[in-house]
Amino acid sequence: MRVVVVGGGPAGLAAADAAVRAGAEVVLVDSEPWLGGQYHRGTPQHADSRVRHLASSTVWAFEGLRLHVRSGPADSPHRTPHVLDADAVVLATGAHDRVVPFPGWDLPGVYTAGAAQALAKGQGVAVGRRVVVSGTGPFLLPVAESLVRVGARVVEVLEANAFGAWARYPGALANVSKLGELARYATVLGRHRIPVRGRAAVIAAHGDDRVTGVTVARLRPDWSVVDGTRRRIAVDAVCVGHGFTPRLELAVGFGCRLVGGFVAVDGTGATSVPGVYAAGEVTGIGGADLAAAEGAVAGAAAARAPEPPTRALRAVRRGRRFAEALAAAHPVREGRHGWLTPDTLVCRCEEVTLHDLDAALDLGAADVRTIKLASRAGLGLCQGRTCGLEIADLAAARLGHPLPDADAFHRRPLATPLRLGELADAPLLPEEDL
Ligand SMILES: Cc1cc2nc3c(=O)[nH]c(=O)nc-3n(C[C@H](O)[C@H](O)[C@H](O)COP(=O)(O)OP(=O)(O)OC[C@H]3O[C@@H](n4cnc5c(N)ncnc54)[C@H](O)[C@@H]3O)c2cc1C
Repeated sequence: MRVVVVGGGPAGLAAADAAVRAGAEVVLVDSEPWLGGQYHRGTPQHADSRVRHLASSTVWAFEGLRLHVRSGPADSPHRTPHVLDADAVVLATGAHDRVVPFPGWDLPGVYTAGAAQALAKGQGVAVGRRVVVSGTGPFLLPVAESLVRVGARVVEVLEANAFGAWARYPGALANVSKLGELARYATVLGRHRIPVRGRAAVIAAHGDDRVTGVTVARLRPDWSVVDGTRRRIAVDAVCVGHGFTPRLELAVGFGCRLVGGFVAVDGTGATSVPGVYAAGEVTGIGGADLAAAEGAVAGAAAARAPEPPTRALRAVRRGRRFAEALAAAHPVREGRHGWLTPDTLVCRCEEVTLHDLDAALDLGAADVRTIKLASRAGLGLCQGRTCGLEIADLAAARLGHPLPDADAFHRRPLATPLRLGELADAPLLPEEDL
């Protein structure tokens, strides 16, 4: 029985360990050089010694349960091709930052919160000297804390939703280690007298060739701007994060059913496709503890362990309560569309403005494919990873109904960028050479 786990974050690591303990032969493929995923970035983790770890290796395509992998640095022209045949696959590909567009978001000096944190945690580099952190979700706090640790002055932290929303879910934080973690961040921010404001956001960034300032404003509950509250702050960097978008290209490629934008799984982590399991942030955003618990459950099921891991199952139930509260307390609201001007870029790679998107909709584009073809939004280097969700939301708001194929922005037959030369010359190594 061979289980291939894709993704070496908390979910994938736990899945690989559980599957190997259940007696399966396990290969763990991760595109980073070190295991640990986003949560443990900068603190490499280790899998059970019986797990075969393919580091710096990316699954870029599959046929049935046969996975195509390239090993080597992402930007290298000399990556080695491999094929892996699996009896079961666990998808633990995680998530990436979600960012909503606003005027000036394409200026140098505007970073995703995750990128700023990765630089701080991984390289000890601060993205600027005077930084404002804006968006929604508890992730803004560790980002601000990381920036302080590497010497940045964090001018303000702006949360677009109201903090009071958590009061409606008192049980959600019980027994969740996040509570202690949040208290630690709050202490650091308090010590540095960093204001943390609710119902406020950066609604525009300014500068000629890089950010020199931002406009911040108070927001109504729907995120529309409260009149008369705009103020300008001088900064040299902005970090924005509006939650996370699951990395769904492999799951969508496999044909896994999605619910609410995430991979639908049953109580064992099984997806709608036989032999394909999913765990971690691809199935919902709930933090590293939940991801690890889901990984343990899915890994055991994929390896057909005789007994389900009861402690992990309990942790999944607890973590899901936290995840539901998180989603309810930190939604992304429609009033943000009012921050945009006709010349705001909505797709940065192809430089598509809101005006261009409206022109495509006026021509009758009403589904993802037609919107892409008519406006070029989502056809650039990121292939809709950054802009796809926002374009679908903007189009739906303007048309007055959801797009029939909104998930199509996740459809990428080549799951990661590949050189044409790699595609053309693919003499595949026999598996024994791995
Ligand atoms: C940028 C960023 C920073 C974060 N920082 C924090 C933090 O400081 N604190 C916190 O509590 N939470 C943080 N989070 C949330 C965090 O992602 C989760 O709580 C946790 O790491 C989720 O675990 P996971 O295993 O589901 O995914 P991840 O940890 O994201 O791991 C997924 C792994 O899959 C790999 N992968 C994806 N696609 C492929 C492929 N095709 N082939 C091979 N490998 C692939 C990725 O390289 C990655 O290593 C962060 C999230 C992001 C996006």
